[in-house]
Amino acid sequence: MRASEATNYYFRRAAKHLHVGSRLETVLMAPRREVKVECVITLDNGELGCFSGFRVQHDNSRGPMKGGLRYHPEVDPDEVNSLASLMTWKTAVANIPYGGAKGGISCDPSKLSHAELQRITRSFVDEIHDIIGPGLDIPAPDMGTNSQTMAWIVDQYSKYHGWTPAVVTGKPIELGGSEGREQATGQGIAFVCEAILEDYSMDLKTTKFAIQGFGNVGSWAAQFIHQMGGKVVAVADLTGGIYNADGLDVAHLMRYVRENNGVKGFPDTVEIAADAIFTCDCDVLIPAALGNVITEENMKDIKAKFIIEGANGPTTPAADEYLIKIGKVIVPDIFANAGGVMVSYFEWVQNIQQFRWRLERVNLELKLLMLDSYKEIKHLAQQNECDLRTAAFQLAISRVARATSLRGLENEGFCMLESPHS
Ligand code: NAD
Repeated sequence: MRASEATNYYFRRAAKHLHVGSRLETVLMAPRREVKVECVITLDNGELGCFSGFRVQHDNSRGPMKGGLRYHPEVDPDEVNSLASLMTWKTAVANIPYGGAKGGISCDPSKLSHAELQRITRSFVDEIHDIIGPGLDIPAPDMGTNSQTMAWIVDQYSKYHGWTPAVVTGKPIELGGSEGREQATGQGIAFVCEAILEDYSMDLKTTKFAIQGFGNVGSWAAQFIHQMGGKVVAVADLTGGIYNADGLDVAHLMRYVRENNGVKGFPDTVEIAADAIFTCDCDVLIPAALGNVITEENMKDIKAKFIIEGANGPTTPAADEYLIKIGKVIVPDIFANAGGVMVSYFEWVQNIQQFRWRLERVNLELKLLMLDSYKEIKHLAQQNECDLRTAAFQLAISRVARATSLRGLENEGFCMLESPHS
């Protein structure tokens, strides 16, 4: 199933109970703008290099659009489209004043020099600077990009529009990045785990967690869960999987992964196949690496009662239906991994106010936003007798639909914000 089909499936499953109407439904599903540009640069060897860049702006009825920018050899326009709409629903569930967007450049960062990556990034900004901006569309790091990429974007964009750190989030602290941004998604996941286990009267200290992925999301989630007293019994990454029923020493594992580029071979653990992470003995499973990993093939063997979706789109619709039917609790990606975009929002707010927040304030505000969203999703799920994903989509769709209607559906181009620079 293509990425956009899964998103549309979840959208329709939720929308059919909302009586949104086919006219509004059509408007909410279609992206407002899809842009393709060519970034032409001189490579280090003197030859010309052409790289296709994309930006999909899905919706801006609740505010400027927000979403990552990825550098990958196969940036798939269908996937970018789907991820842009997921961002619309994610920012609406989080109740932050943004719409959704996503972008990418077809290039292999591992085969390009630092200087070439910088030239590609600046060329991309040259092509799209009039459709991004603090009040229009605010990119952020994603696969293959990082705080350095964001720093180049700020610099290039500022040449056209004056000093504008709020044009992107996920910047280095020195250029207006926020404290707590790097760990925000993992921190948000830990807050969700704490809240949901409390609802099910489970003691976090005796709960067993298994995590797929030990990159940004997985490693920070593991650290915070470990700090709260939870037992992380299994972790898998590209190098393989490890298991210890008594719990892993996560701080030690962090150091080990830094030195060995993966979890494989970590002392005092049983080696398991990377895919065995989904079926190992645990209470909470956190997929935090890839999409489409919980499928019809492994769904029947999943032992965890709770699945907290750290990655985007880890569960296929068929597996989702089955797992819900047999009583598993799935906390959907559009809420579970929203901690990152919430702290991106705090970064943008700080940039606009030209005022810095301390880490304590960032974490407090993050916890409040995560718990507010959780309460609302839970309330809707109880009221409509549905699963948490359907409730999260319903919350998001109703917020976006309401904003769209309030802004005047009848006007052509009703919700595109005009660029102040056009
Ligand atoms: P990352 O690149 O930092 O880490 C990815 C991890 O997944 C690595 O440990 C890698 O070894 C592992 N991995 C890759 N292929 C694997 C495989 N086949 N089997 C097992 N492990 C494998 O990425 P990240 O930033 O942690 O993002 C992970 C997921 O979370 C992605 O789906 C991303 O879109 C999503 N996400 C990230 C953020 C964020 O703030 N970073 C926010 C929201 C959602």
